[in-house]
Parts: sequence; C-alpha cells; structure tokens
Amino acid sequence: MFSSLNLDPQILRAIEEEGYTEPTPIQAQAIPHVLAGRDLMAMAQTGTGKTAAFTLPLLQLLLPHASTSASPARHPIRALVLAPTRELAIQVEESVETYSKHVPLRSTVVFGGVDIKMQKPALMKGVEILVATPGRLLDHVESKNLMLNQVQVLILDEADRMLDMGFMPDLKRILMLLPKQRQTLLFSATFSDDIKKLAHDFLINPITVEAERRNTAAETVKQSVLMVDQDSKFGVLADLLRSRGLGSQALVFTRTKLTAARLARKLEREGIPADAIHGDKTQLERIKALDAFKEGKITALVATDVAARGLDIDQLPLVVNYELPTNAEDYVHRIGRTGRAGASGEAISLVDGDEERRLVDIEKLLKRSFPRERAVVSPSSRASSSHRPAKPAPQAYVKKAAPVDDWFLKPYEPSPSAAKIAEQPSLGPDKPKKQIAALLCRPPAKN
Ligand code: AMP
Repeated sequence: MFSSLNLDPQILRAIEEEGYTEPTPIQAQAIPHVLAGRDLMAMAQTGTGKTAAFTLPLLQLLLPHASTSASPARHPIRALVLAPTRELAIQVEESVETYSKHVPLRSTVVFGGVDIKMQKPALMKGVEILVATPGRLLDHVESKNLMLNQVQVLILDEADRMLDMGFMPDLKRILMLLPKQRQTLLFSATFSDDIKKLAHDFLINPITVEAERRNTAAETVKQSVLMVDQDSKFGVLADLLRSRGLGSQALVFTRTKLTAARLARKLEREGIPADAIHGDKTQLERIKALDAFKEGKITALVATDVAARGLDIDQLPLVVNYELPTNAEDYVHRIGRTGRAGASGEAISLVDGDEERRLVDIEKLLKRSFPRERAVVSPSSRASSSHRPAKPAPQAYVKKAAPVDDWFLKPYEPSPSAAKIAEQPSLGPDKPKKQIAALLCRPPAKN
C-alpha cells in the first residue's frame, strides 16, 4: 500500500486523486531506497509507473525545503531530471505537477526546438525541480539563466535512449556542473554495457532494482503477427481501424519519417482521423498531434520510434507495427505503449515476407515465437492499398458497386445559362486571345 511507504499525507492525497490504489512493482521496490538516500539503478520501461517511482520519493525528500515565499532565492534547483526527448520531458513534468499539486514545490520543463526566451521567466522565478533535455539545459547554463550548484538529486530518465541519441558528451558536461555530493537515480529500459559503465562512473554504490525481466515485453499485452504483402498493408490497417470503430485509438509505428507522414495523410484521405509525429515536425506540431490524440480527436497516431519515446497515453488499447523496427529492442519499447500499469492491451504487427528476418530477431530477443497468421485482404482494402488501378476482382468477391448517377454517363451538353455566358463578349484576363497565323518553314539549305 502507498500508505506504508512513508510518504507525506499531501503526496498521498495527490496519488489517491489519480486513482492509484497500490504501488506498481517498480514503485514498491524503488521508493524505500530513494527515501533512504541511496543511488539507484532501475531497469524499467515506460508504462511501469517509473515516473512516480522517482517523483514521489523525490517530493518527499524535498519537502523540508518547500517554501511559499515568492523570492527566487528560496527556490533554487534542488532536483534535475534529464530526459532524452521533449515529449518525455513534458510528460515527466506533467507528472511532477500532478503529484506535487498539494505541496509548495515548484517545477518547470525546458527543451529544445522552441524559443529559449520563453523558458527564461519560469527559471528566473525559481523552481525546485527542473525537467530538461540535455542540450537545452546547457543552452540555459550558457545564457546564465540557471544555476545547478544546489542540485541534491539527479535523475537520468531513459538513460539508454539518451546514450543512443548521442547525449553522452552533454551528459558529461552537465555532470561536471553538479555538486559531487548528491543522490543519483538512473532509469533505463535496458542495462547495456554502456549503461553499466555510466552507472559505474557516476553512481555511488547503487542499489539495483528491476521492474521486469530484461527485454521481456509486458505480459499483459496480447501480441500477434499478421503476414501481409507490403502492397496490401495499408488496406489491412484501414480495415483493422474501421472494424474497431473510429473511437477506438491506435498508435501506429513506421520505420521512417517519410512513411509516417504519408501513412497519416493516406488514412485521413480514407476518412480515418490521423496525424503523424516524427523528427521533421516542429515541436508545436508534435504537441498539437499528441494533444489531439489524447483528446480522442484522432483515431490513429502514426509515429517513428524516436518520436514515440516516452509517450504517456493512458488507456491506449492498440499498437500496430505497420513496419517492424530495425532494432529488435525497439519492438519492446513500441508495445510498451499499451498494456500500461497492468491494463490489458494489444499489439499487432503487419509483416511482409521481406521483414521475416526482423521478426526472427524479435522472437530471439523475446524468447518466444509468434504464429504467422495470414491477413485477410478484403477487396475494399486491396483497392485502398494499391496505388495502381486495382485489377478486377473475381465476381464472387466484388462488392456491390454504389449506384452511378446517369448524369456522369451523358455526353457533354452546355446548360442554357452557360451558352448565354459564352455569347457575351469577354472582359478582363479571360478575354480570348486574338487569333494569329504563323507560317513555319525550314531555312533555305546552304549549298
Ligand atoms: P510511466 O511508466 O511513469 O510512464 O507510467 C505509466 C502510467 O501508469 C501513467 O499513465 C501513470 O499515470 C500510471 N501509473 C503510475 N503509477 C500507477 C499506480 N500505482 N497505479 C495505477 N497507475 C499508475
């Protein structure tokens, strides 16, 4: 029970208001160690409740410093949470705000891709908890918008992704700016050798906690594979989404930004509300798409792996792998978007024969095999999949065609009003050009 975790009643109140009844396994394991001041190395994916696992004890630790004073000097940065992507940073800060709503601790978030000046006022007022992406944090340090010399707790969220994204040099620079005497919590979905080295270099005698076994996809997620040719994938996806009703949402993964953008546009054209989030979209566009998805205004959110990192969408019932990821571990991250915090979810992969190799890699990683079901390709889905004119289907499968208005079959006849307009002398730019004649002839041949 949360009540046995030695958390302040005001923190417990916020948890209760969120409807959480008991801690998730990572929370139950991590919270007592963080409260005891230990460094922590936690293996936990998004969806396990990891954000509350570090935020709840963090709030408890900072509570003695909570102040209602307006003076910025009374609100130095005491905790720094580093996240690899803007989306994750925003979501972590939203969680910090949620859990801290009944205690006078301030927080804000800074990330790149938006005007740095907009973020300055919140920093100048003073915040105890700063959530940041590494690059933008360093920009603010250079602009002297913040000081990190009073940081007591450092949290590295999704540390594996931070290293994948090449943040190691930035991380090292940031770590140099922090007091040596501090508590460090490292959260990562995987414990690669690089992560172990990072922990060895920057954590002191850490406790290791593990939410799930290494690379094990959430057990609550029902996973299936549908074998389908590349050409038919779109139609199968459109049928799948329609069959569940447009109110039922899905996160759809593609490998490339281009496919994500094209797929979202194609779904829209098919009458399925969709949008895409990928690296080429501006921050504002991504936030808009994510908000529209969260508000249920769009059915399908199409995303690339990097853009989807850390997305926290409650009650997401379905993840579709439109294309399998190149890196098998990304499959685990993808399906971790559904079946969160114990809820049931479903992940369907549409696999073309050419992707078989990737599927085998995923099976090896998960130590399980998937039955290869053949997708049912309906004539309508075949038609919407194909860019080429669809071949006439065998009569038995042809859907009853919608009645065609005779009007389309009649030869063209100008309407009486159109004929009248044609008789009037034309004015302005549409005035018919004067007819001219030109004689084109070959120049005389030279002898
Ligand atoms: P996270 O792994 O931090 O991204 O959290 C995943 C989701 O689980 C978020 O939507 C949280 O609101 C939710 N959550 C966190 N802790 C609990 C809990 N103890 N009980 C139920 N839901 C939770």
